[in-house]
Amino acid sequence: MKVIHHSVETLQTALVSNRQDLAKLYRKYTREERQLLEGGLRAGQPGSQFQPITVHSDSDWIPAHPEEPQSFESFYSNPHRKNPDASHNTIYIQTIGSFGKPGAETDQYVGWLREYCQVFFSGLTVKLLPAVTVAETRCAFRVNNDSQNLQILTSDFLQFLWNKKPKDAFWLIYIPMIDLYPRESWNFVFGQASLSKGMGVFSFARYDDDFYSKTYAGKLKKSLHPKQGDYSLFDGYYTPPITSTLLLRSCKTLTHEIGHIFGLKHCQWLNCVMQGSNHLEESDRRPLDLCPICLRKLQTVVGFHIGERYKALLEWTEEDPTQSVKEASAVQAFPKPTEAFQTSVKSMLICTSFIKN
Ligand SMILES: [Zn+2]
Ligand SMILES: [Zn+2]
Repeated sequence: MKVIHHSVETLQTALVSNRQDLAKLYRKYTREERQLLEGGLRAGQPGSQFQPITVHSDSDWIPAHPEEPQSFESFYSNPHRKNPDASHNTIYIQTIGSFGKPGAETDQYVGWLREYCQVFFSGLTVKLLPAVTVAETRCAFRVNNDSQNLQILTSDFLQFLWNKKPKDAFWLIYIPMIDLYPRESWNFVFGQASLSKGMGVFSFARYDDDFYSKTYAGKLKKSLHPKQGDYSLFDGYYTPPITSTLLLRSCKTLTHEIGHIFGLKHCQWLNCVMQGSNHLEESDRRPLDLCPICLRKLQTVVGFHIGERYKALLEWTEEDPTQSVKEASAVQAFPKPTEAFQTSVKSMLICTSFIKN
């Protein structure tokens, strides 16, 4: 295990920049906002809500994928970065198949994800498109030889997405609970995106606590050779049950991937939801929220009020989960499982304590 320590000067330059115009822009934050952001310079010390990155093994992202760290200045001056504009300002999320049980439970789960993205990217519009079935996408699929679960081909998805992208979409994300493969020779892939086309597909199938167990309920017979075009295997096929861990993992993935479309690269500064991740255990180590350097990047693009955003994030983890469903329809309400979010709530509380609205 190795803790990545950066000097205070390095972190300060990454956050504020040596460029005069960017330092001037930084001084436009209120004193309280700057105090909050500068908590990152004391990461790991008592009173700081931020932590340094700990590398656990050579298979972690940073040793496995050496990259140039992205400071605020390099983010800001990247000419290829795309910003939302007046005619492309909505992020669309579309699910494929069910999450938990079909119907009201799936609708509720996807509703939580939409609301979470809405508060994480405060100020941006996040909308849901009606769910589609795998059969409607006409994707190729297979049963994986090793893990024996159903998988769908991502390139077919991206083509399907392209044909359906709404005109005002800044980005369109597909989230299936079915596992993915990018080409025949690959075992699986968590997701695939096309930055130039503004769309991506990310599966949550492997976020099931049981996925890697021998008794995984999504395993099919090895001898099964499904006929392409016959989607009956997907009817009633196992999908992960809704749990607090599944919700936490889904929220992290969605915000991490949307972060990339705003031009945020993998974070190498501090513990941060934008850290790269090579495996599920490393993804689980990532915190829910952004480090101060990535927070400044996002704030500059989206323009939210830092304190209001933390308040809204806290409210999302605390709100009465039964209320919105009861109001929307007469169906049975499902409580939002937020137990897994409690560690993150503690650090968000420290953040809000800096900023009195
Ligand atoms: Zn990433
Ligand atoms: Zn970061």
